[in-house]
Amino acid sequence: MNVLVINCGSSSLKYQLINSESEEVLAKGLCERIGIDGSAIAHQPAGGEKVKTEVDMPNHTAAVKFVIEKLTDPEVGVIKSLSEIDAVGHRIVHGGEKFATSVVLDDEVIAVIEQCNDLAPLHNPANLIGINSCKEIMPGVPMVGVFDTAFHQTMPKKAYLYGLPLSYYEDYKVRRYGFHGTSHDFVSKRAAQILGKDVKDLKIIVCHLGNGASVSAVKYGQSVDTSMGLTPLEGLIMGTRSGDLDPAIVTFVADKEGISAEQVIDVCNKKSGVLGLSGGVSSDFRDLAEASAKGNEAAETALETYAYRVGKYIGAYAAAMNGVDVIVFTAGVGENNAEVRALIGQYIGFLGTNIDPEKNKLRGEEVILSDADAKVAVMVIPTNEELAIARETVRLVEA
Ligand code: ADP
Repeated sequence: MNVLVINCGSSSLKYQLINSESEEVLAKGLCERIGIDGSAIAHQPAGGEKVKTEVDMPNHTAAVKFVIEKLTDPEVGVIKSLSEIDAVGHRIVHGGEKFATSVVLDDEVIAVIEQCNDLAPLHNPANLIGINSCKEIMPGVPMVGVFDTAFHQTMPKKAYLYGLPLSYYEDYKVRRYGFHGTSHDFVSKRAAQILGKDVKDLKIIVCHLGNGASVSAVKYGQSVDTSMGLTPLEGLIMGTRSGDLDPAIVTFVADKEGISAEQVIDVCNKKSGVLGLSGGVSSDFRDLAEASAKGNEAAETALETYAYRVGKYIGAYAAAMNGVDVIVFTAGVGENNAEVRALIGQYIGFLGTNIDPEKNKLRGEEVILSDADAKVAVMVIPTNEELAIARETVRLVEA
């Protein structure tokens, strides 16, 4: 089965066409600046060069049309016609409390997803536009929605409730939801597989460290806690997001700077994290490492502060599960950044991690970093959210 995996943002659309039998990526690409001047599609067939074409894409429906055009192009395409796309899998950010698993998308389900829009006003409407565009262009092709929040729906109340009046939860559903669920699920299952164990026998802490970053506690295969909250702003220090804060900071800074609380939250989302901490050097960890190596103190402090926060969460989640067997690093920084992993390693040695500094130098591949006698296995496992979405899509379509 050929599955088209779509990840739709407000002005972008990422896609991969995956053959579900071989799990091979046949082609992938990105439509950028949809609805903005200078829109372009970058398309790459397996084993081929990436080709960028500037095309006018006034909306997402136009973008989906170009994706199909590229996929079926005689030169850079990988299929002959639309009929070779058997199903579409959509990444959806917020499923609220309504979706604990992936779902086949029909009109009824789409209406329920719309009800979750106010929980993720930046993301969900864009996801829905992608769904509706595909429906228009590929009527009759089955579509599945895979939610970032679904995996974390197993969290117990004590983990998802905030210390606020209960009515905020009852009336407005203010609670911890957590994100990156597809990745936490994929990586924790893969860790068990590599170790030759059943995930139902393991206590795993997954550190998904990308531009956005979150940690989760996966006990016996189920998420029991995670660092992101009502929105993806809580938890770790991220590329541009602050992570955990004293909520009183928001109105305090708003008052000092003469801006609204909403504007402060915008700063917390877009100008904080390691970007803010480094005094504006970069949100990219490669730039920070370079600046730090050249003696930029703020960049060095940003990296140390980042790693310290990850270390604290690992300690907290070891307590939450009353033990830990496996700690996994994944996503851009977790997979590739040996320096950051080494910094985090300073705080978790007491658990019996025995990280081998030589193995820690490897990047971007599956590896067990801890030595054979370690009480806790520390691993690097590249995440693959698109493949996870494709697998879910096949599972539901075949059912
Ligand atoms: P997203 O959340 O956008 O999917 P990614 O998982 O791609 O993010 O992670 C992006 C981060 O990964 C960037 O901060 C980047 O610095 C870091 N990263 C990617 N490759 C490397 C590398 N080779 N060495 C160090 N850091 C890297």
